[in-house]
Amino acid sequence: MTPLIGLGTDVHRLEPGVAMWVAGLHFPEETAGLAGHSDGDVAAHAACDALLSAAGLGDLGSNYGTDQPEWAGASGVAFLAETARRVRAAGYDIGNVSVTIIGNRPRIAGRREEGERVMSEAIGARVSLAATTTDALGLTGRGEGVAAMAVALLMPAVGG
Ligand code: MG
Repeated sequence: MTPLIGLGTDVHRLEPGVAMWVAGLHFPEETAGLAGHSDGDVAAHAACDALLSAAGLGDLGSNYGTDQPEWAGASGVAFLAETARRVRAAGYDIGNVSVTIIGNRPRIAGRREEGERVMSEAIGARVSLAATTTDALGLTGRGEGVAAMAVALLMPAVGG
């Protein structure tokens, strides 16, 4: 059976006074967080887009857009869990998801394994996390926002 890969990417703007949520983790020491339709968790959103893309199920906007107000303000973990459910319902097993967070803050290094655990539990498959800065260049380097990219690998479910 042919495995299927999907790519996802997300960016959210940093806004003072907003709670910082990334990779399903709250970073209480941060004085700015990610603004958006939801909690702005770029890592979770990129992972969801990667999973949906691999399954041919559209993207975050088509699955949970403004026409579905019940998803307004949903947590990244809630999106991950529901996306994994939809992907499996469409007949796929999830192989793994690999996520890279791009930005100056929050500092992921000390909580990387915790984020991997939270995201992995949400989708029921391995999620690995990496983080990088952009050498002070671009919107992430200037601290205007945080970005993330993800790839997901799916396999058609046996007997599915
Ligand atoms: Mg997003």
